[in-house]
Amino acid sequence: MEKIIQEVLDSNRKYTNYGQVASYIPELKKAKRDDLGICIIDKDNNVYKAGNCDTKFTIQSVSKTIVLAMALMDNEWQYVFSKVGMEPSGDPFNSIMKLETNDTKKPCNPMINAGAIVTTSLIKGSTLEEREERMLKFFRRMARNENIGINYDVYKSEKMTGDRNRAMAYLLKNDGFIDGDVDEVLELYFKQCSIEIDAVDLARIGVNLASYGVDIANGERIISESVSRMVKTFMITCGMYDASGEFAIKVGIPAKSGVGGGIMASVPNKMGIGVYGPALDKKGNSIAGVKVLQDLSQRMNLNIF
Ligand code: GLN
Repeated sequence: MEKIIQEVLDSNRKYTNYGQVASYIPELKKAKRDDLGICIIDKDNNVYKAGNCDTKFTIQSVSKTIVLAMALMDNEWQYVFSKVGMEPSGDPFNSIMKLETNDTKKPCNPMINAGAIVTTSLIKGSTLEEREERMLKFFRRMARNENIGINYDVYKSEKMTGDRNRAMAYLLKNDGFIDGDVDEVLELYFKQCSIEIDAVDLARIGVNLASYGVDIANGERIISESVSRMVKTFMITCGMYDASGEFAIKVGIPAKSGVGGGIMASVPNKMGIGVYGPALDKKGNSIAGVKVLQDLSQRMNLNIF
């Protein structure tokens, strides 16, 4: 396995020359575009690494999977889906359009910003501090890493430039999809995006989803089987934004990307894969990361279809 990962890393390094590191959140510009890291954790808890696996970056939209799991644990699933839909949007992750043109005005799904802001609002806790604490605790549990925390420089940068997310959140409140204080919801959303992780953390989250919510390191259940199924289903249908269809055809693995350059992939019953490569394509997916996953899928026969 180690050999395969190293070969896949070496042969795809050239792709780090393509695309751009995200700059619409100014702090993200600091990432080194030629970094590339791959980590695989299999269901027997073997950890395989190649390249920049210790480099820290922010989780960004990969957080949407974990917050969705939390929302589904904190609320009846029928209630969650009365506030956010189940369909791919076919639009960019930060699109606001369908909030106005959809019959119901409901955000299409929890993997795009509008839907994710709704799931963030469904996290329970009597104060913002309590919700933040519960969220961080759950991220640490999923990644089995007590050291996970927020990168406050990225958080401030998100907050300063997050007017589009703000616009969506206020619209969602106006249309009854968010209750409570919009600024508090946004605060939590900006913080969840700014949680700092590495490729190993992503692989760990991926393998815990691959094992249907059981922590493969100690056999403890973290999330229910049905919640883990729903999260992986959203990953395959919506996890790569408006490139999810193409990714499902070429790679065939449930995955979720973030503009920090990370991709978390989960191969049911087999393994979790974390990839880091900060240069992105126009849709916001890591170019080298997608290539790496395509190769790994082919070489190890991981396509779930
Ligand atoms: N924090 C980013 C945003 O809200 C997350 C987007 C992403 O990773 N695609 O714009």
